[in-house]
Amino acid sequence: MVTGRQNQKRILAVNCYFDDTRLPVPRRGKLLQATAPIYLAGAFAPQLCEVRIYNEQYDGPISPDTLAWPDMLVLSGLTNSFDRMLHLTAYARTQNPRVVVVAGGPAIRALPLYSRQFFDYACEGDVEEIQDVIRDALGQQFVSETMAPRFELANWLNNGALVETTRNCNFRCSFCTIAAENRPYSTYSSDSVRRDILAAGYKRLLVLTDNNMYGNCAASFARRAALLRELHEQKSFGRWGACVTSDFFLNSLNIELARQSGCVALFSGVESFDQAWLRSMNKMQNTVADQTAGINKCLSAGLLFLYGLMFDTTRRTVADLRRELDVILHDSDIPFPTFFAVPVPFPRTKFFYKCLEESLILPNTRWRDLDSTTISLRTLSPLSEAAGLVRDLQSLHGYRIAILRHTMRFLRTHRNLNGLQHAIVLKNVWQQMNYELRSTAAACLRGAWRGSRTHVSSTEKLDAVYRPAIHLEAEYESYFRPTRLTDATGSLAEELLPDLGTTLNAPLSKAARAAEAVIEEDESGRALWPCLQNA
Ligand code: SF4
Repeated sequence: MVTGRQNQKRILAVNCYFDDTRLPVPRRGKLLQATAPIYLAGAFAPQLCEVRIYNEQYDGPISPDTLAWPDMLVLSGLTNSFDRMLHLTAYARTQNPRVVVVAGGPAIRALPLYSRQFFDYACEGDVEEIQDVIRDALGQQFVSETMAPRFELANWLNNGALVETTRNCNFRCSFCTIAAENRPYSTYSSDSVRRDILAAGYKRLLVLTDNNMYGNCAASFARRAALLRELHEQKSFGRWGACVTSDFFLNSLNIELARQSGCVALFSGVESFDQAWLRSMNKMQNTVADQTAGINKCLSAGLLFLYGLMFDTTRRTVADLRRELDVILHDSDIPFPTFFAVPVPFPRTKFFYKCLEESLILPNTRWRDLDSTTISLRTLSPLSEAAGLVRDLQSLHGYRIAILRHTMRFLRTHRNLNGLQHAIVLKNVWQQMNYELRSTAAACLRGAWRGSRTHVSSTEKLDAVYRPAIHLEAEYESYFRPTRLTDATGSLAEELLPDLGTTLNAPLSKAARAAEAVIEEDESGRALWPCLQNA
């Protein structure tokens, strides 16, 4: 007799991931983990589908054996995880030729034509597109009526809940894939935010995973802050944190609303304190007011300020960048950054096409190299010196004593911050100092250590997972060859021309042109965002 359970479709949704260190290690310490598999899982009718989800960031590379199980494999991940999606596809199809493979996310949106030869469905849209895929591949009855996120399936939510209140971003920074995709900024309804927060269950920390939780309207933010305050007072979560753009700090009322609603920390993409560099990247919102004043406002109100820096070794000398680091280390008013990144020429961004035009992308750069710890662009200082800086920043080598002194001074200066916030500051510094050491030790224990990194795309070693772990059908062996971004001359790889070459020098879409015109023509900042008029 055939039972209902035997008729169920087996669905596996995976967040594909390459670790920054290029080692096959789980990265559990990071609070910001993937949400796509949780929302994708919610699209399948629970009574007809057995759904499992896996996060390679949290649990490390998935075992090929696991990929023999699903009838449908749903892949998502960051831009540079495209090759990892190919690996998983090869493993799944070798063990189950009838498996349906669906891929989505920024890499697929950047390479829609190229992707179609590898996946049954190469999705260019938002997460909801999975409903059309299910309808087409399995039938309408397998589509869930609600598409409510399946938080209960995610084993990586021990530390905090991950919920989104808005989608996309209202700014157009040149280097950003979200800006390049040019999709409209939108705010979720209060009902859906409430539903997701309650569904996540009580967690000490609620992390709002929006790209820009503030957005383009202070009134809209005030409404969401009121909802957070209500749920915070009902003890539906402990405290919350989110990413906002620097214009948020121009209006003190925003900070106060955040504080009243249980906010513990805000992250903002400072990127650089160099105004000329910010303008060159069209990050105009960071030039409207002194960034350190915004940081101080935030900290004085009792909210921890977190930020990352982009160290552009293409336009600034290593000596100049090290000077910037020294300035931060001598200013106890501001915290130490949570990460340092090098600029990445993400395909389809304005920055990418500029780099191509100026022949800045290094020869033999691979798609996998598009991460923030690998130099893939020509450098102003000698390449070896720039690579040395990136290596030092990954372990804070040479700066540790100065950073510890700075951290102690910072904590003394900001005694108004609470114990949790002090703990976050200390954990941030501790994790950065031990990042490489802990990863290397874990990789050595697994026999996966492959020698030191060069931090340069053209000479960097590939991750160990590029070696197939099981015998593959011959047709899938090529899935383990790294996708090229540039060839040996530094030109765009021929196979990517249909996706990326045709848009070279092509005019931007009307909406993108309009957005850029507004941002570039007004340096005072007041006319840019109507909601700031009263700031
Ligand atoms: S503000 Fe952030 S999310 Fe928005 S376009 Fe700039 S980098 Fe991207």
